[in-house]
Amino acid sequence: MGLTGIQIFKLLPKTNCGECGVPTCLAFAMNLASAKAELDACPYVSEEAKEKLAEASAPPIRQVAIGVGTRALRIGGETVMFRHEKTFYNPTGIAALVKTGIASADLDKKLKGWNALQYERVGLNLRPELVALQDVNGDGAGFAEAAKKIAEESEFNLVLMTENFEAMKAALNGCAFKKPLLYAATAKNVDQMGSLAKERGLPLAVKAESVEKLISLVDKLTGMGLKDLVLDSGSREAKPLFQDQVVIRRAPLKAGNRALGFPTITFPCEMANNLDVETLLAAMLIAKYAGIVVVSDFKGENLFPLLLERLNVFTDPQRPMTVTQGIYEVNGPNKNSPVLVTTNFSLTYFIVSGEIEGSRVPSWLLIMDTEGLSVMTAWAAGKFSGDAVGSFVKKSGIADKVAHRKIIIPGYAASISGDMEEELPGWQVVIGPRDASLIPKFLRDSWK
Ligand code: SF4
Repeated sequence: MGLTGIQIFKLLPKTNCGECGVPTCLAFAMNLASAKAELDACPYVSEEAKEKLAEASAPPIRQVAIGVGTRALRIGGETVMFRHEKTFYNPTGIAALVKTGIASADLDKKLKGWNALQYERVGLNLRPELVALQDVNGDGAGFAEAAKKIAEESEFNLVLMTENFEAMKAALNGCAFKKPLLYAATAKNVDQMGSLAKERGLPLAVKAESVEKLISLVDKLTGMGLKDLVLDSGSREAKPLFQDQVVIRRAPLKAGNRALGFPTITFPCEMANNLDVETLLAAMLIAKYAGIVVVSDFKGENLFPLLLERLNVFTDPQRPMTVTQGIYEVNGPNKNSPVLVTTNFSLTYFIVSGEIEGSRVPSWLLIMDTEGLSVMTAWAAGKFSGDAVGSFVKKSGIADKVAHRKIIIPGYAASISGDMEEELPGWQVVIGPRDASLIPKFLRDSWK
């Protein structure tokens, strides 16, 4: 539970020096309580207060990192039951299963194929993040060898799946540098797995046969000092797993039960015998709170819908997706190339730039910051007015890049052309098509 403004105020220096940007410590405390300020803005807050505030402001569901560097996967850290209440922060990790005993050449082939499954969408790179390596035949050496290979030769993060403590320990010799998730501590091995995860500073999955049994295992592990846990309630059927997922999300958020305040790992690969059904189950679990879903294989036709669903579920509904304001070059423009202007709503940018690219006409595309609004909405809100667009064009620096003085505006914003020409003396404002799909023909016909 977060602290109130008054509780935070009691921990601040109370000197009202104003260095944090507001005149009083009380005002700063209120801003902190409503997440409008960062604690770092006060240079005088004590270490003790920092610790207390960090603890109190931690999300009820712990954020757990698997992997290192830019490819590290963060799961958990969620603060709401439903996306429309605020947003979901950390997208579900998608993993494919590999079992020990696989020939080295086959593993190479799989990793290479899976790595190629990356998709560009609204300027983002969509791809799966994890390989779950399962020890199926007690072959510790084979498990360690495959773990090392995946860690060293691929960009995937790793889930090491064995309940055999010795096999887990041996595998870590070759892959601990990649910060894998250890799966799993159970009632039988909890002391050994807990100690190993603590000693190596690695995240640990906890598996039980029910949510109740999970709680007692988690209590034991947190008592040992472990913080980065991932939960598996053991259910392998759709309905009970769905219920467990809801219970595990609800408990820390609604009842303050920190024992369940961790992300979950789920196994569609153990719940169906074909990839299409697994994909349906994974889709349900992405929508309903899974931190990780493990499927038996990555195939484009199954993976792509999951990636797209995940993108939608984890996009902040309060903030439109935007691109940065500026001048974009499409098809290698020169000083005689046409100049087009539009808004910085991601979808607008990608549709317009895609059509220009398809036209093969070298062009300059000016993207104006309209806080992520599309052309019509920005125009209606006064953010894409003739004055504003004219002033943006002036400041953009495009006049130094082209030898002409013509600018093409979206057809839906035709009414701003007069004000724009007043703001941009010497420029001719050309009204472009209303529909982006007509841009290629428009450019080819009218820009000779
Ligand atoms: Fe108070 Fe710190 Fe802000 Fe100064 S910088 S007013 S001490 S909160």
